[in-house]
Amino acid sequence: MFKKTHLLILLIFSAWQLQHAQTPIDKGLAVINKNVLQSQLTFLASDWFEGREATTQGASMAADYLRSLFQQSGLQPAGDDSTYFQKVPLVINTLPTDASLEIATPKHNLTFIYGQDFLLQAPSSGYTMSGAIAWVGYGTDGLQQKKLKDRIIVRLSGLPENASKELLVLKTQELTNLKNKMAAEAGVKAILEYDPNDPDLKNLPSPTITRNPENPVSGIYSRRYMLPGEQTAEVPVVKISKSVATQIIPNLDKQLEDWRQNGVIPSIGATGTIQAKAANIHKSCRNVIARLQRSEFPNEIIVVGAHYDHLGSYDGFIWNGADDNASGAIGVAAIAAAFKATGIQPKRTIIFANWTAEERGLLGSRYFVNNFKQIKKVICYHNYDMIGRSYDPKKSDMAVSLMYSKTWPKAEILSDRFNKEHNLGLNINFSPWDNPTSGSDNAFFAKQGIPIMWYHTGGHSEYHKPGDHAEHIDWQKLEAIIKNSFLTLWELANE
Ligand SMILES: [Zn+2]
Repeated sequence: MFKKTHLLILLIFSAWQLQHAQTPIDKGLAVINKNVLQSQLTFLASDWFEGREATTQGASMAADYLRSLFQQSGLQPAGDDSTYFQKVPLVINTLPTDASLEIATPKHNLTFIYGQDFLLQAPSSGYTMSGAIAWVGYGTDGLQQKKLKDRIIVRLSGLPENASKELLVLKTQELTNLKNKMAAEAGVKAILEYDPNDPDLKNLPSPTITRNPENPVSGIYSRRYMLPGEQTAEVPVVKISKSVATQIIPNLDKQLEDWRQNGVIPSIGATGTIQAKAANIHKSCRNVIARLQRSEFPNEIIVVGAHYDHLGSYDGFIWNGADDNASGAIGVAAIAAAFKATGIQPKRTIIFANWTAEERGLLGSRYFVNNFKQIKKVICYHNYDMIGRSYDPKKSDMAVSLMYSKTWPKAEILSDRFNKEHNLGLNINFSPWDNPTSGSDNAFFAKQGIPIMWYHTGGHSEYHKPGDHAEHIDWQKLEAIIKNSFLTLWELANE
């Protein structure tokens, strides 16, 4: 009798254990928790970090905080000299501190004021340019036929109304780059650019940034960051105000109207001289990198990354970048913690990375890809950039895009499967991508032919504005996206 009772108790206990036994995956999922995410993200996107702009103290503190999360989870350091940090050297071009523009016409010689009448981009070296000024309209076609060698051109910004579809789809910066390239190929010495919609140069970064509560401009656009050895010689671009344009093209408005209506080329009889003094500063910033060592498959590595830098702090405003990209940086730390919580060593090595200087041209991830000796072993790259928002911050929509290399449909198959199997409730917009070599830190992995996947919850009205705050984050959705990633990566690491 006693024995039977004993056996029965044992059976009941075993059944209870079976029902409640946590699998390794359950243990991993259990540590991805919206309360933890909220506490970490809110701290990382707080004013203490001063907008985490690469090379600033705020960014150094952010890197150290993210290092502490990797270390706390028990990951191994994978940066320089057995640390969690990889030093990324930079060359920084600042706006010229001193510049001059002179316009000589048959009637007079005029000198203009830098910062008021004209503005410059950050050049990679100082220069003095002189030459006759020629008209090129918008500068989008026929430059080769215009005999522009060694000329200074005057160009309108933007595009004509009848521009081709190929040009109309370009983003502002892409269009500018293309127009500058055309000018360089035609042998142009310097470009004077006039924007009739901004006659007083109010919409551009100035060497003296003035506070405008209506439309604060982050100062990052007044400096250019590059990796050493990647500087390129460029045709200088000078943005001129209407006061300068009027001296070059007399009766400016009438001549422009005549040109638009009847194709009459504006008459110019002026030469220009431009001088700029440039300063190159050498600085460095840091990627934060940790490793989870494999148990099998020595030749296969997975990289999971997100940038932690943002736009900094200027003139009384702090760009906290809660969605862009504290959400992704905390997400990477959460996946790392979940892998450790399973108690199982994955079959494949995983590198977890928080990149620096993404906002400056994807420099942290680019530096990693250029210098990682085992880059040929990387079988896929998983990216987070902005994974925290619902379109309407007051209404959770559970929508997320998963962009992935078209040649690698597995990303979609796994992500879709785990969303359903674990009832994560995500509404995933799957976007296969022919050539994922732009947009975020996926770019330089994709250029190496490495398949990529990138979760992204889309643009919003606070994008790249000081208002990108933690209070707008959708915590439930953030948790679901990170769980989806963990499940997908777990499969990829152990299949
Ligand atoms: Zn971003």
